Amino acid sequence: MIVILKQGITPQEKDKVRSFLSEKGFIVKEIVGQQDTVLGAVGKVSIDPRTVELMPGVSSVVPISKPYKLASREMKKEDTIVQVGKVKIGGNRVAVIAGPCAVESYDQIMAIAESVREAGAVMLRGGAFKPRTSPYAFQGLGEEGLKLLRAAGDAFDMPITSEVVSPSDVKMMSGYVDMFQIGARNMQNFELLKEVGKTGMPVLLKRGLSATIEEWLMAAEYLMASGTDQVVLCERGIRTYEKATRNTLDCSAIPVVQKLTHLPVIGDPSHATGIRDMVAPMSLAIVASGASGVIVEVHNHPENALSDGPQSLYPSQFKKLVHDIQALCPVVGKSLEKIPRVLPESMKSREEETASPASSSFTVAFQGVRGAFSELAVRRSFDESVEVMPCHAFSDVFDAVSSGKAKYGVVPVENTLGGTIYDNLDLLAIHPELTVVGEQQVRVMHNLIVVPGAKMEDIRKVYSHPQGIRQCRAFLDKELPNAECVPFFDTAGAVEYIAKLGDKSVAAIAGAPAARYYGMEVLAQGIETDASNYTRFYILAREENAAPFRSQSPLDKAALSFSVSDEPGALMDILRMIADKGVNMTKLESRPIPGKPWEYLFFVEIQLPEGRERFDELVKDIQEKAVSCKVLGVYASVIG
Ligand code: PEP
Ligand code: MN
Repeated sequence: MIVILKQGITPQEKDKVRSFLSEKGFIVKEIVGQQDTVLGAVGKVSIDPRTVELMPGVSSVVPISKPYKLASREMKKEDTIVQVGKVKIGGNRVAVIAGPCAVESYDQIMAIAESVREAGAVMLRGGAFKPRTSPYAFQGLGEEGLKLLRAAGDAFDMPITSEVVSPSDVKMMSGYVDMFQIGARNMQNFELLKEVGKTGMPVLLKRGLSATIEEWLMAAEYLMASGTDQVVLCERGIRTYEKATRNTLDCSAIPVVQKLTHLPVIGDPSHATGIRDMVAPMSLAIVASGASGVIVEVHNHPENALSDGPQSLYPSQFKKLVHDIQALCPVVGKSLEKIPRVLPESMKSREEETASPASSSFTVAFQGVRGAFSELAVRRSFDESVEVMPCHAFSDVFDAVSSGKAKYGVVPVENTLGGTIYDNLDLLAIHPELTVVGEQQVRVMHNLIVVPGAKMEDIRKVYSHPQGIRQCRAFLDKELPNAECVPFFDTAGAVEYIAKLGDKSVAAIAGAPAARYYGMEVLAQGIETDASNYTRFYILAREENAAPFRSQSPLDKAALSFSVSDEPGALMDILRMIADKGVNMTKLESRPIPGKPWEYLFFVEIQLPEGRERFDELVKDIQEKAVSCKVLGVYASVIG
């Protein structure tokens, strides 16, 4: 059962409720949610819920209807984010785990670890105890394999996961791995589950070959009841009558599981298909299904692999796959989980000593009210734990970062349908103390949002930003031809407004986070006419706070501004310099210079060429020729 506590419960009252439940034989877990704090009580005992409901500080008691209790969404509404070393799995992230089926040798695991890390994997896998169908097949290197896997994980700064097959190995393995893997064949090995659960460590729980979703969640419940709340589920294909693939990838299990449990779910396309060529498309299908990551087998010489060679990707194929996953992420509202790049010893500097942008306890400013698309861009770029500072105007965001009230600011610069947001380019020009440290993309998916319980036929008025209304015109004309559209200063602000009105005849058009934030209901999803609607944001900082961002991902873009003299071909000369250096220009804008009628400042974005020297030379050349030239930022194009 779930014991919902009153907001003002005293620590003494809470202790009393807790001890009462423990004495009755329940396992008690406290869960602090965004809205409520609850005590989850599970166990074999049953008591009259009213005895608890009447205790001081208790608001209500709700029974859990599912057989799995700790794992159920009823117990915890928010997504669980499992932390494995520096890596987080769950929430808005897609984590890529990769490595060979089995650890075979020092050279093999080192080579694979290096290539998967370079390509963007955040965790290393590798079997040391292999549960093989044939007793004559390679069974793994055992503890020696774990030592090699640990060494590779440490060398390339990745947490590691490996399968545990026997309860008697749990203690030994806990000294090597960061996350246990329970294989499909052992999903219902309850003694193993209990032993692994007792360690309290993260566990990757594969779905059994013929397990129903409920059986799979019951296995997670075993782990949780034994002592860990760090469980990641993994869909890895189930046994069906189909022979074309090794197993049948059950993508539909992913959204089903997400409804039933708060635990993150990832997918394993390698064991699901058993065929190398199908691993990449099925990885994308897994991400498109809403999973929090993939675990993929990669081998440097798959043809010589001691196990699962035919399904292992070549490192180059894996690299391409991570690129494709990254491109898909904004479509599903997620970003690729990244950990700071490993810097060669010689380059280690202040960068690593400075707090990572992912760490907590700093403030990030954005324009708009809570739930705005800009807040979504903040959440994608930083950890959930950062403080957000909603600002009234774009200029307030710049001022907040400039004055140090916020460490970072996030502002939109371009929308695929609406074009450039000039205000922010102009503000950048008058804030030379700020620099662009990153870029983030958000897919703008509009929703019709209403007061809970309202129906389509109730709606008389629709509030939204004029852009929101314009972008949903076809839907409005078809579904709500008689509703009055009322322009509002901001999409999320419109949701806040209808929440205040509490009137079923009004609706708002905005993003889903705004509906969640203000407790409203989404009546229709994805109502924008053109689905290729993305907004690109700049992440701004003062120079002294730029370093941690620069160590996050390879830097691949730069933004510059310059002005030229008023003579024939002056702009052409600069553009030719860019072209002659073989540098690809991705954006060009011109803006009037305040106080200098008919003079213009040009903004350019370029793809950073390989090797920084070419870029530095280009800047020097432009500075010599132009009237003014400033580097606005050198950054990674999408911060995951
Ligand atoms: C593995 O990950 O190497 C493995 C054996 O997977 P599964 O348990 O899903 O078959
Ligand atoms: Mn395998």
